[in-house]
Amino acid sequence: MAEEKDNFRDHIATADKSGKRLWVYPTKPKGKLYTSRTIVSWFLLVILFGVPFIKIDGNPLLMLNIIERKFFIFGNAFWPQDFHLFVLIGIALVLFIVLFTAVFGRLFCGWACPQTIFLEMVFRKIEYFIEGNAGSQRRLAAAPLSAGKIFKKGSKHLIFFGLSFLIGNLLLAYVIGLDQLVKIITDPPSQHVGGLTAMILFSGLFYFIFAWFREQACTLVCPYGRLQSVLLDDNSIVIAYDYKRGEPRGAVERGQDFSQRGHCISCDACVKVCPTGIDIRNGTQLECVNCTACIDACNNVMNKLSLPKGLIKYASGNIIEKGDKFRITGRIIGYTVAFTILLTVISLLLINRTDVETTILRTAGTLYEETDDGMIRNLYNLSIVNKTTHELPIELHLKAPEGTITVVGTDITVPPSGKTETVFFVNIEKVHLFSPNTMIAIEIVSNGETLEEIKSNFMGPRK
Ligand code: SF4
Ligand code: SF4
Repeated sequence: MAEEKDNFRDHIATADKSGKRLWVYPTKPKGKLYTSRTIVSWFLLVILFGVPFIKIDGNPLLMLNIIERKFFIFGNAFWPQDFHLFVLIGIALVLFIVLFTAVFGRLFCGWACPQTIFLEMVFRKIEYFIEGNAGSQRRLAAAPLSAGKIFKKGSKHLIFFGLSFLIGNLLLAYVIGLDQLVKIITDPPSQHVGGLTAMILFSGLFYFIFAWFREQACTLVCPYGRLQSVLLDDNSIVIAYDYKRGEPRGAVERGQDFSQRGHCISCDACVKVCPTGIDIRNGTQLECVNCTACIDACNNVMNKLSLPKGLIKYASGNIIEKGDKFRITGRIIGYTVAFTILLTVISLLLINRTDVETTILRTAGTLYEETDDGMIRNLYNLSIVNKTTHELPIELHLKAPEGTITVVGTDITVPPSGKTETVFFVNIEKVHLFSPNTMIAIEIVSNGETLEEIKSNFMGPRK
Protein backbone atom coordinates (compact mmCIF):
# COMPACT_ATOMS: atom_id res chain seq x y z
CA MET A 1 0.00 0.00 0.00
CA ALA A 2 2.82 2.38 0.96
CA GLU A 3 4.53 1.69 -2.34
CA GLU A 4 1.30 2.21 -4.26
CA LYS A 5 0.71 5.48 -2.39
CA ASP A 6 4.17 6.69 -3.37
CA ASN A 7 3.86 5.64 -6.99
CA PHE A 8 0.37 6.70 -7.94
CA ARG A 9 1.55 10.05 -9.28
CA ASP A 10 4.11 8.39 -11.57
CA HIS A 11 1.56 6.92 -13.97
CA ILE A 12 -2.05 7.42 -14.94
CA ALA A 13 -4.60 5.02 -13.56
CA THR A 14 -5.88 4.10 -17.00
CA ALA A 15 -2.61 2.71 -18.41
CA ASP A 16 -0.50 -0.28 -17.38
CA LYS A 17 3.27 -0.18 -16.90
CA SER A 18 3.87 -0.70 -20.64
CA GLY A 19 1.59 2.27 -21.41
CA LYS A 20 -1.25 0.10 -22.73
CA ARG A 21 -4.68 1.49 -22.03
CA LEU A 22 -6.67 -0.05 -19.19
CA TRP A 23 -10.36 0.27 -20.02
CA VAL A 24 -12.38 1.75 -17.15
CA TYR A 25 -15.60 -0.03 -16.21
CA PRO A 26 -17.03 2.27 -13.52
CA THR A 27 -19.86 0.95 -11.39
CA LYS A 28 -23.10 2.84 -11.94
CA PRO A 29 -23.27 5.58 -9.28
CA LYS A 30 -26.25 5.74 -6.96
CA GLY A 31 -27.08 8.46 -4.49
CA LYS A 32 -28.39 11.96 -3.85
CA LEU A 33 -25.63 13.77 -5.72
CA TYR A 34 -25.95 11.51 -8.75
CA THR A 35 -29.71 12.18 -8.83
CA SER A 36 -29.11 15.92 -8.53
CA ARG A 37 -26.50 15.80 -11.27
CA THR A 38 -28.90 13.89 -13.50
CA ILE A 39 -31.56 16.59 -13.05
CA VAL A 40 -29.05 19.39 -13.68
CA SER A 41 -27.73 17.59 -16.77
CA TRP A 42 -31.19 17.26 -18.33
CA PHE A 43 -31.78 20.95 -17.69
CA LEU A 44 -28.45 21.87 -19.32
CA LEU A 45 -29.06 19.52 -22.26
CA VAL A 46 -32.39 21.24 -22.95
CA ILE A 47 -30.58 24.61 -22.97
CA LEU A 48 -27.74 23.27 -25.14
CA PHE A 49 -30.08 21.82 -27.74
CA GLY A 50 -32.61 24.67 -27.46
CA VAL A 51 -30.34 27.70 -27.92
CA PRO A 52 -29.79 27.30 -31.71
CA PHE A 53 -33.58 27.44 -32.17
CA ILE A 54 -33.98 30.76 -30.33
CA LYS A 55 -33.88 34.02 -32.27
CA ILE A 56 -33.99 37.63 -31.15
CA ASP A 57 -35.21 40.10 -33.80
CA GLY A 58 -34.49 37.46 -36.43
CA ASN A 59 -30.90 36.98 -35.21
CA PRO A 60 -29.60 33.82 -33.54
CA LEU A 61 -29.37 34.01 -29.75
CA LEU A 62 -25.83 32.59 -29.97
CA MET A 63 -23.78 31.88 -33.09
CA LEU A 64 -20.01 31.78 -33.31
CA ASN A 65 -19.18 31.59 -36.99
CA ILE A 66 -15.41 31.64 -36.92
CA ILE A 67 -15.24 30.65 -40.60
CA GLU A 68 -17.05 33.78 -41.84
CA ARG A 69 -16.05 35.83 -38.78
CA LYS A 70 -19.66 36.59 -37.83
CA PHE A 71 -20.71 36.35 -34.23
CA PHE A 72 -24.09 36.73 -32.52
CA ILE A 73 -24.31 37.01 -28.78
CA PHE A 74 -27.78 37.50 -27.26
CA GLY A 75 -29.00 38.39 -30.76
CA ASN A 76 -26.44 41.19 -31.20
CA ALA A 77 -24.15 40.96 -34.21
CA PHE A 78 -20.40 41.30 -33.67
CA TRP A 79 -17.91 41.67 -36.50
CA PRO A 80 -14.13 41.52 -36.87
CA GLN A 81 -14.21 45.28 -36.11
CA ASP A 82 -15.25 44.29 -32.58
CA PHE A 83 -12.10 42.23 -32.14
CA HIS A 84 -11.00 44.32 -29.16
CA LEU A 85 -14.26 43.40 -27.43
CA PHE A 86 -13.66 39.70 -28.03
CA VAL A 87 -10.14 39.97 -26.66
CA LEU A 88 -11.45 41.65 -23.50
CA ILE A 89 -14.33 39.17 -23.16
CA GLY A 90 -11.80 36.33 -23.64
CA ILE A 91 -9.54 37.74 -20.90
CA ALA A 92 -12.56 38.23 -18.60
CA LEU A 93 -13.63 34.63 -19.21
CA VAL A 94 -10.17 33.30 -18.38
CA LEU A 95 -10.10 35.45 -15.24
CA PHE A 96 -13.55 34.21 -14.23
CA ILE A 97 -12.44 30.59 -14.71
CA VAL A 98 -9.33 31.20 -12.60
CA LEU A 99 -11.39 32.89 -9.87
CA PHE A 100 -14.12 30.25 -9.94
CA THR A 101 -11.55 27.44 -9.80
CA ALA A 102 -9.63 29.07 -6.95
CA VAL A 103 -12.86 29.04 -4.92
CA PHE A 104 -14.82 26.01 -6.10
CA GLY A 105 -12.19 23.80 -7.74
CA ARG A 106 -13.47 21.75 -10.67
CA LEU A 107 -17.15 22.12 -9.86
CA PHE A 108 -17.77 23.01 -13.51
CA CYS A 109 -16.20 19.73 -14.75
CA GLY A 110 -18.50 17.56 -12.68
CA TRP A 111 -21.75 19.46 -13.09
CA ALA A 112 -21.73 21.49 -16.29
CA CYS A 113 -18.96 20.46 -18.70
CA PRO A 114 -20.57 19.15 -21.93
CA GLN A 115 -17.96 16.35 -22.09
CA THR A 116 -18.94 15.04 -18.63
CA ILE A 117 -22.64 15.54 -19.24
CA PHE A 118 -22.66 13.69 -22.56
CA LEU A 119 -20.31 10.93 -21.40
CA GLU A 120 -21.69 10.26 -17.91
CA MET A 121 -25.32 11.23 -18.33
CA VAL A 122 -26.05 10.11 -21.89
CA PHE A 123 -23.56 7.63 -23.38
CA ARG A 124 -22.70 5.83 -20.12
CA LYS A 125 -26.37 5.46 -19.21
CA ILE A 126 -27.10 3.89 -22.60
CA GLU A 127 -24.16 1.55 -22.01
CA TYR A 128 -25.50 0.53 -18.59
CA PHE A 129 -28.93 -0.04 -20.14
CA ILE A 130 -27.63 -2.27 -22.96
CA GLU A 131 -24.64 -4.01 -21.40
CA GLY A 132 -25.52 -3.87 -17.69
CA ASN A 133 -23.40 -2.67 -14.78
CA ALA A 134 -19.58 -2.75 -14.59
CA GLY A 135 -19.29 -6.52 -13.94
CA SER A 136 -21.54 -7.47 -16.87
CA GLN A 137 -19.65 -5.07 -19.15
CA ARG A 138 -16.35 -6.65 -18.18
CA ARG A 139 -17.68 -10.15 -18.77
CA LEU A 140 -19.17 -9.16 -22.12
CA ALA A 141 -15.87 -7.65 -23.24
CA ALA A 142 -14.01 -10.84 -22.30
CA ALA A 143 -16.62 -13.21 -23.79
CA PRO A 144 -16.03 -14.87 -27.18
CA LEU A 145 -17.91 -13.49 -30.15
CA SER A 146 -21.54 -14.61 -30.15
CA ALA A 147 -24.86 -13.43 -31.60
CA GLY A 148 -25.74 -11.85 -28.24
CA LYS A 149 -22.45 -9.99 -28.01
CA ILE A 150 -22.70 -8.76 -31.60
CA PHE A 151 -26.26 -7.58 -30.97
CA LYS A 152 -25.39 -5.73 -27.76
CA LYS A 153 -22.18 -4.16 -29.03
CA GLY A 154 -23.69 -3.44 -32.46
CA SER A 155 -26.84 -1.76 -31.14
CA LYS A 156 -24.81 0.26 -28.61
CA HIS A 157 -22.43 1.59 -31.25
CA LEU A 158 -25.27 2.28 -33.66
CA ILE A 159 -26.98 4.44 -31.01
CA PHE A 160 -23.63 6.01 -30.11
CA PHE A 161 -23.05 7.00 -33.72
CA GLY A 162 -26.61 8.37 -34.07
CA LEU A 163 -26.07 10.50 -30.96
CA SER A 164 -22.66 11.64 -32.18
CA PHE A 165 -24.29 12.69 -35.46
CA LEU A 166 -26.84 14.70 -33.46
CA ILE A 167 -24.10 16.36 -31.35
CA GLY A 168 -22.05 17.07 -34.50
CA ASN A 169 -25.09 18.82 -36.01
CA LEU A 170 -25.62 20.72 -32.78
CA LEU A 171 -22.07 22.03 -32.90
CA LEU A 172 -22.54 23.02 -36.54
CA ALA A 173 -25.73 24.88 -35.59
CA TYR A 174 -23.68 26.96 -33.15
CA VAL A 175 -21.08 27.69 -35.85
CA ILE A 176 -23.09 28.29 -39.03
CA GLY A 177 -26.56 28.85 -37.57
CA LEU A 178 -29.68 26.72 -37.71
CA ASP A 179 -30.92 28.17 -41.04
CA GLN A 180 -27.73 27.24 -42.83
CA LEU A 181 -27.74 23.80 -41.20
CA VAL A 182 -31.29 23.14 -42.37
CA LYS A 183 -30.22 24.14 -45.89
CA ILE A 184 -27.34 21.66 -45.79
CA ILE A 185 -29.73 18.92 -44.70
CA THR A 186 -32.54 19.72 -47.17
CA ASP A 187 -30.67 20.92 -50.29
CA PRO A 188 -29.11 18.44 -52.74
CA PRO A 189 -25.78 17.21 -51.24
CA SER A 190 -23.82 18.56 -54.23
CA GLN A 191 -24.65 22.13 -53.14
CA HIS A 192 -23.07 21.79 -49.70
CA VAL A 193 -20.08 19.49 -50.07
CA GLY A 194 -18.08 21.50 -47.49
CA GLY A 195 -20.95 21.56 -44.97
CA LEU A 196 -21.63 17.85 -45.34
CA THR A 197 -17.94 17.06 -44.95
CA ALA A 198 -17.88 19.09 -41.72
CA MET A 199 -21.00 17.24 -40.53
CA ILE A 200 -19.39 13.84 -41.12
CA LEU A 201 -16.09 14.92 -39.55
CA PHE A 202 -17.80 16.29 -36.42
CA SER A 203 -19.95 13.15 -36.10
CA GLY A 204 -16.86 10.95 -36.44
CA LEU A 205 -14.97 13.07 -33.91
CA PHE A 206 -17.72 12.85 -31.28
CA TYR A 207 -18.19 9.12 -31.88
CA PHE A 208 -14.43 8.65 -31.37
CA ILE A 209 -14.53 10.72 -28.15
CA PHE A 210 -17.59 9.16 -26.54
CA ALA A 211 -17.23 5.58 -27.74
CA TRP A 212 -13.48 5.17 -27.29
CA PHE A 213 -11.44 8.16 -26.12
CA ARG A 214 -13.72 8.95 -23.16
CA GLU A 215 -12.06 9.98 -19.87
CA GLN A 216 -8.78 10.60 -21.69
CA ALA A 217 -10.29 13.83 -23.06
CA CYS A 218 -10.29 15.09 -19.45
CA THR A 219 -7.07 13.53 -18.22
CA LEU A 220 -4.83 13.94 -21.28
CA VAL A 221 -6.26 16.66 -23.52
CA CYS A 222 -8.37 19.21 -21.65
CA PRO A 223 -6.19 22.27 -20.90
CA TYR A 224 -8.42 23.22 -17.98
CA GLY A 225 -7.74 19.87 -16.32
CA ARG A 226 -4.02 20.21 -16.87
CA LEU A 227 -3.99 23.70 -15.33
CA GLN A 228 -5.46 22.49 -12.04
CA SER A 229 -2.11 22.30 -10.29
CA VAL A 230 -1.64 26.07 -10.69
CA LEU A 231 -5.29 27.06 -10.27
CA LEU A 232 -6.01 25.19 -7.03
CA ASP A 233 -4.61 25.93 -3.61
CA ASP A 234 -5.23 24.57 -0.11
CA ASN A 235 -8.33 26.76 0.25
CA SER A 236 -10.04 25.60 -2.97
CA ILE A 237 -13.07 23.38 -2.52
CA VAL A 238 -12.39 19.99 -4.10
CA ILE A 239 -13.65 16.44 -3.71
CA ALA A 240 -11.58 15.34 -0.75
CA TYR A 241 -11.12 12.24 1.35
CA ASP A 242 -11.11 13.07 5.05
CA TYR A 243 -7.96 11.13 5.86
CA LYS A 244 -8.01 12.34 9.48
CA ARG A 245 -11.28 10.53 9.98
CA GLY A 246 -10.66 7.66 7.55
CA GLU A 247 -7.17 6.51 8.62
CA PRO A 248 -5.92 4.04 9.65
CA ARG A 249 -8.12 2.20 7.19
CA GLY A 250 -8.76 -1.51 7.09
CA ALA A 251 -11.32 -4.22 6.44
CA VAL A 252 -14.29 -4.16 8.75
CA GLU A 253 -14.89 -6.95 11.25
CA ARG A 254 -18.12 -8.02 12.85
CA GLY A 255 -18.98 -5.80 15.85
CA GLN A 256 -16.19 -3.40 14.90
CA ASP A 257 -15.54 -0.53 17.33
CA PHE A 258 -14.89 2.46 15.11
CA SER A 259 -13.69 4.65 17.97
CA GLN A 260 -10.37 2.80 17.86
CA ARG A 261 -9.73 2.97 14.11
CA GLY A 262 -10.33 4.97 10.95
CA HIS A 263 -13.71 4.93 9.26
CA CYS A 264 -12.48 3.77 5.84
CA ILE A 265 -13.14 0.05 5.55
CA SER A 266 -11.08 -0.37 2.33
CA CYS A 267 -14.14 -1.53 0.44
CA ASP A 268 -12.96 0.29 -2.70
CA ALA A 269 -16.52 1.37 -3.52
CA CYS A 270 -15.17 4.87 -4.18
CA VAL A 271 -12.57 3.52 -6.60
CA LYS A 272 -14.98 1.24 -8.43
CA VAL A 273 -17.37 4.09 -9.34
CA CYS A 274 -14.65 6.47 -10.48
CA PRO A 275 -14.95 7.15 -14.23
CA THR A 276 -11.28 8.13 -14.42
CA GLY A 277 -10.13 5.08 -12.47
CA ILE A 278 -8.41 6.89 -9.59
CA ASP A 279 -8.39 6.42 -5.84
CA ILE A 280 -9.40 9.72 -4.26
CA ARG A 281 -7.92 8.55 -0.96
CA ASN A 282 -4.51 9.35 -2.48
CA GLY A 283 -5.45 13.04 -2.41
CA THR A 284 -6.42 15.62 -5.04
CA GLN A 285 -5.37 14.42 -8.46
CA LEU A 286 -5.39 15.94 -11.94
CA GLU A 287 -7.61 13.09 -13.15
CA CYS A 288 -10.46 13.87 -10.71
CA VAL A 289 -13.27 15.54 -12.65
CA ASN A 290 -15.29 16.21 -9.48
CA CYS A 291 -18.12 13.96 -10.64
CA THR A 292 -19.13 13.24 -7.01
CA ALA A 293 -19.66 9.52 -7.73
CA CYS A 294 -17.19 8.58 -4.98
CA ILE A 295 -19.04 10.78 -2.45
CA ASP A 296 -22.29 8.94 -3.16
CA ALA A 297 -20.57 5.54 -3.07
CA CYS A 298 -18.87 6.22 0.26
CA ASN A 299 -21.98 7.79 1.79
CA ASN A 300 -23.89 4.59 0.96
CA VAL A 301 -21.19 2.58 2.76
CA MET A 302 -21.25 4.93 5.77
CA ASN A 303 -25.03 4.58 5.91
CA LYS A 304 -24.77 0.81 6.10
CA LEU A 305 -22.21 1.09 8.90
CA SER A 306 -24.34 3.69 10.73
CA LEU A 307 -21.41 6.11 10.56
CA PRO A 308 -21.76 9.80 9.68
CA LYS A 309 -21.70 10.61 5.96
CA GLY A 310 -18.96 12.75 4.44
CA LEU A 311 -15.83 10.63 4.67
CA ILE A 312 -15.44 11.81 1.09
CA LYS A 313 -16.92 15.26 0.59
CA TYR A 314 -16.61 18.73 -0.90
CA ALA A 315 -13.90 20.36 1.22
CA SER A 316 -10.63 22.22 0.93
CA GLY A 317 -7.26 20.86 2.02
CA ASN A 318 -7.26 23.29 4.94
CA ILE A 319 -10.77 22.33 6.02
CA ILE A 320 -9.67 18.68 6.24
CA GLU A 321 -6.23 19.30 7.71
CA LYS A 322 -6.81 22.20 10.08
CA GLY A 323 -10.57 22.13 10.52
CA ASP A 324 -10.66 25.65 8.99
CA LYS A 325 -13.84 27.22 7.72
CA PHE A 326 -14.00 28.46 4.13
CA ARG A 327 -11.85 31.60 3.87
CA ILE A 328 -11.80 34.49 1.40
CA THR A 329 -8.10 34.79 0.65
CA GLY A 330 -6.11 37.72 -0.76
CA ARG A 331 -5.85 35.81 -4.03
CA ILE A 332 -9.64 35.59 -4.34
CA ILE A 333 -10.03 39.31 -3.54
CA GLY A 334 -7.37 40.21 -6.16
CA TYR A 335 -9.03 38.14 -8.89
CA THR A 336 -12.45 39.56 -7.99
CA VAL A 337 -11.23 43.16 -8.21
CA ALA A 338 -9.51 42.56 -11.57
CA PHE A 339 -12.58 40.74 -12.91
CA THR A 340 -14.93 43.52 -11.78
CA ILE A 341 -12.77 46.21 -13.43
CA LEU A 342 -12.66 44.24 -16.67
CA LEU A 343 -16.41 43.64 -16.60
CA THR A 344 -17.02 47.38 -16.10
CA VAL A 345 -14.80 48.26 -19.08
CA ILE A 346 -16.58 45.68 -21.28
CA SER A 347 -20.01 46.95 -20.19
CA LEU A 348 -19.04 50.56 -21.04
CA LEU A 349 -17.69 49.50 -24.43
CA LEU A 350 -20.87 47.53 -25.15
CA ILE A 351 -23.13 50.42 -24.10
CA ASN A 352 -21.22 52.82 -26.35
CA ARG A 353 -20.99 50.41 -29.27
CA THR A 354 -22.36 51.90 -32.51
CA ASP A 355 -24.20 50.13 -35.36
CA VAL A 356 -21.64 51.37 -37.88
CA GLU A 357 -17.91 51.79 -37.98
CA THR A 358 -16.97 54.81 -40.11
CA THR A 359 -13.61 55.96 -41.38
CA ILE A 360 -13.30 59.38 -43.07
CA LEU A 361 -9.93 60.48 -44.42
CA ARG A 362 -8.98 63.39 -46.66
CA THR A 363 -8.13 61.89 -50.05
CA ALA A 364 -4.36 61.48 -50.16
CA GLY A 365 -2.47 63.80 -52.50
CA THR A 366 -5.29 66.33 -52.96
CA LEU A 367 -5.32 70.02 -51.97
CA TYR A 368 -8.31 72.28 -51.43
CA GLU A 369 -10.16 73.72 -54.47
CA GLU A 370 -11.81 77.10 -54.79
CA THR A 371 -15.04 77.02 -56.80
CA ASP A 372 -16.46 79.83 -58.97
CA ASP A 373 -19.04 80.73 -56.33
CA GLY A 374 -16.37 81.37 -53.69
CA MET A 375 -16.62 78.04 -51.86
CA ILE A 376 -13.62 76.06 -50.68
CA ARG A 377 -13.95 72.33 -51.09
CA ASN A 378 -11.99 69.25 -49.96
CA LEU A 379 -12.28 65.68 -51.22
CA TYR A 380 -12.69 62.83 -48.67
CA ASN A 381 -12.68 59.03 -48.72
CA LEU A 382 -15.46 57.34 -46.79
CA SER A 383 -15.60 53.74 -45.58
CA ILE A 384 -18.62 52.48 -43.59
CA VAL A 385 -19.04 49.02 -42.04
CA ASN A 386 -22.61 48.02 -41.21
CA LYS A 387 -22.66 45.88 -38.05
CA THR A 388 -26.42 45.29 -38.17
CA THR A 389 -28.23 42.58 -40.10
CA HIS A 390 -30.35 45.03 -42.12
CA GLU A 391 -29.57 47.47 -44.92
CA LEU A 392 -28.65 51.00 -43.82
CA PRO A 393 -29.30 54.07 -46.02
CA ILE A 394 -26.72 56.67 -45.00
CA GLU A 395 -26.74 60.46 -45.17
CA LEU A 396 -23.80 62.68 -44.31
CA HIS A 397 -24.51 65.93 -42.47
CA LEU A 398 -21.89 68.59 -41.90
CA LYS A 399 -22.45 69.55 -38.29
CA ALA A 400 -19.77 72.23 -37.99
CA PRO A 401 -18.80 74.64 -39.42
CA GLU A 402 -21.59 75.68 -41.77
CA GLY A 403 -21.34 74.11 -45.22
CA THR A 404 -22.56 71.29 -47.48
CA ILE A 405 -21.58 67.76 -48.43
CA THR A 406 -21.75 66.41 -52.00
CA VAL A 407 -21.47 62.66 -52.38
CA VAL A 408 -19.86 61.57 -55.64
CA GLY A 409 -22.06 59.06 -57.42
CA THR A 410 -25.21 57.44 -56.07
CA ASP A 411 -26.74 57.61 -52.60
CA ILE A 412 -24.92 55.67 -49.89
CA THR A 413 -26.49 52.38 -48.85
CA VAL A 414 -24.57 49.86 -46.76
CA PRO A 415 -25.67 46.22 -47.13
CA PRO A 416 -26.38 44.15 -44.01
CA SER A 417 -23.10 43.21 -42.34
CA GLY A 418 -21.32 44.70 -45.33
CA LYS A 419 -19.05 47.59 -46.18
CA THR A 420 -19.41 50.54 -48.57
CA GLU A 421 -16.69 52.86 -49.79
CA THR A 422 -17.18 56.15 -51.65
CA VAL A 423 -15.81 59.68 -51.96
CA PHE A 424 -17.47 63.00 -51.17
CA PHE A 425 -16.78 66.74 -51.17
CA VAL A 426 -17.17 69.06 -48.21
CA ASN A 427 -17.96 72.62 -49.33
CA ILE A 428 -17.45 75.54 -46.93
CA GLU A 429 -17.72 79.26 -47.56
CA LYS A 430 -14.46 81.16 -47.12
CA VAL A 431 -15.98 83.37 -44.42
CA HIS A 432 -16.36 80.34 -42.13
CA LEU A 433 -12.70 79.39 -42.38
CA PHE A 434 -10.37 81.10 -39.93
CA SER A 435 -7.22 79.09 -40.49
CA PRO A 436 -5.64 76.94 -43.21
CA ASN A 437 -6.58 73.86 -41.18
CA THR A 438 -10.11 73.73 -39.78
CA MET A 439 -11.56 70.91 -37.69
CA ILE A 440 -14.91 69.73 -39.13
CA ALA A 441 -17.55 67.41 -37.65
CA ILE A 442 -19.60 65.10 -39.88
CA GLU A 443 -22.67 63.25 -38.65
CA ILE A 444 -23.45 59.77 -40.03
CA VAL A 445 -27.23 59.65 -40.19
CA SER A 446 -29.54 56.77 -41.06
CA ASN A 447 -33.34 57.02 -41.13
CA GLY A 448 -33.18 60.28 -39.19
CA GLU A 449 -30.98 58.85 -36.43
CA THR A 450 -27.41 60.01 -35.90
CA LEU A 451 -25.28 56.89 -35.63
CA GLU A 452 -21.85 58.41 -35.30
CA GLU A 453 -19.99 61.70 -35.40
CA ILE A 454 -16.61 61.82 -37.09
CA LYS A 455 -14.07 64.62 -36.90
CA SER A 456 -11.63 65.44 -39.69
CA ASN A 457 -9.40 68.25 -41.01
CA PHE A 458 -10.40 70.70 -43.72
CA MET A 459 -7.74 72.58 -45.66
CA GLY A 460 -8.26 76.11 -46.83
CA PRO A 461 -6.31 79.19 -47.92
CA ARG A 462 -4.21 81.27 -45.51
CA LYS A 463 -5.98 84.38 -44.29
S1 SF4 B 1 -15.92 4.03 -0.21
FE1 SF4 B 1 -15.39 5.04 1.69
S2 SF4 B 1 -15.05 3.34 3.05
FE2 SF4 B 1 -14.99 2.46 1.04
S3 SF4 B 1 -12.82 2.55 0.47
FE3 SF4 B 1 -13.74 4.43 -0.28
S4 SF4 B 1 -13.36 5.89 1.37
FE4 SF4 B 1 -13.06 3.86 2.24
S1 SF4 C 1 -12.29 10.75 -7.60
FE1 SF4 C 1 -14.48 10.86 -7.19
S2 SF4 C 1 -15.11 12.85 -7.93
FE2 SF4 C 1 -13.08 12.45 -8.76
S3 SF4 C 1 -13.51 11.59 -10.77
FE3 SF4 C 1 -13.29 9.87 -9.36
S4 SF4 C 1 -15.36 9.44 -8.65
FE4 SF4 C 1 -15.40 11.43 -9.61
